[in-house]
Amino acid sequence: MLKCKLCDKETQNKDFCDFHNKAYDNIVEKYTSWKKALSISWKEYLSKVAENPLTGEWAKQVAEHLINSGEKHHV
Ligand SMILES: [Zn+2]
Repeated sequence: MLKCKLCDKETQNKDFCDFHNKAYDNIVEKYTSWKKALSISWKEYLSKVAENPLTGEWAKQVAEHLINSGEKHHV
């Protein structure tokens, strides 16, 4: 059994639990539309997500994790 990288909840075959995985999907999805409008890099985008006071707590944790891990965007 794997554990979520962010909250230690058990998860199956994923880096994140259902909550964090959902937040991750939203982040990736939103980036697709941001990229079209504003040529912004994945890293810059993640910083904006993390700094945005409107970002939910789950998404913020995911964004900060991705920034710190230097994970590449692979979509
Ligand atoms: Zn989690």
